[in-house]
Amino acid sequence: MGRVKPLLSGICGSDLGTLSSENSPYFSPITSPPFVLGHEVVGVVTEANGGFDVGERVVLEPALGCAVRGIEPPCPYCATGRYALCVNVAKGDITPGIQTGFCRDTGGGWSDGTLVAHLSQLYRVPDEVSDEMAAAIEPLACAVHAALKAEPGPDETALVVGSGPVGLFVVAALKRLTRAGRIICVAKYDRQKKEAFRLGADDVVHPKETYEKLPTMLGTKAYKPEIGKPVVMGGADKVFECVGSPGTMEDAIRLARPGGEVALVGMPPARSCIDLTALWYKEVGLAGSYAYGEEEYGGEKIKSFQLALRLAPEIDLETMVGPRFRLRDYREAIVTARAAGRNGHVRVVFDLRS
Ligand SMILES: [Zn+2]
Ligand SMILES: [Zn+2]
Repeated sequence: MGRVKPLLSGICGSDLGTLSSENSPYFSPITSPPFVLGHEVVGVVTEANGGFDVGERVVLEPALGCAVRGIEPPCPYCATGRYALCVNVAKGDITPGIQTGFCRDTGGGWSDGTLVAHLSQLYRVPDEVSDEMAAAIEPLACAVHAALKAEPGPDETALVVGSGPVGLFVVAALKRLTRAGRIICVAKYDRQKKEAFRLGADDVVHPKETYEKLPTMLGTKAYKPEIGKPVVMGGADKVFECVGSPGTMEDAIRLARPGGEVALVGMPPARSCIDLTALWYKEVGLAGSYAYGEEEYGGEKIKSFQLALRLAPEIDLETMVGPRFRLRDYREAIVTARAAGRNGHVRVVFDLRS
């Protein structure tokens, strides 16, 4: 085990959903309140029984699987590097919790104190990766996983719905880690549009153009039903839903081609009322994309976190991190994070460096 003092810690949509009780009650048996929030963490090692020196900078991989919980033998998911899918998150040596930041026993990133981590959860931060970059490695690793799981090919169009941090990072990961033929992104705000182009989108459309310009770009046409959202005949090969709202989930399904695939990357709310006719009629595949683990990339097995650490300097990740807030200014931090997109921010963080 090691002890880590957080330097920067991100404010994620899942944290905001926890604070506002908008997250699904699904998580109640697999979290253990009261807990300290904060799962997007760069910190410095203050104590470690091997593997790391005191003072080393590390990023935390927050998933709390079998190894962390002292469970032997590991479940089939942990055994194959998919520890975010661990079935033992409510068992073992520590209280229930899917991740650090949702578990009473580990502590979390939103703290002036320290958190405890299993050494397998820690990744050394190379010098070329700044604290700011490192603070966004966790969401970038989620995007790496989403891109490689769906892996669009050279003759395929990838459509990314939503341009918060996850959507933008998915664009970056698709561009650099897959051979996707074309990347189209739906972005609401100017900053998001700029970033989407910078990170590798071929085209960017506004949500208002979802059923106008976008079907034309996809070489098809939208038809207006008597009521409800338009019907799109063809569509994109691979669609990444990165908002986590019922409206955009339905858009993602409607905009997939017959036999296409939709990945839910954004965290869905507690209740979603969605018309699934397009899913059924176009035989669209719908799959979740959660967290990270071990990927197959370029013929080797590599952790999503390692790929994210490689990617960070290439995409100037630090330019997308901030503003930074002291922990005592948490009210302002939360308000700012809630309106991040509208105000031209990508990832708002707490700065725990004194
Ligand atoms: Zn998060
Ligand atoms: Zn497990």
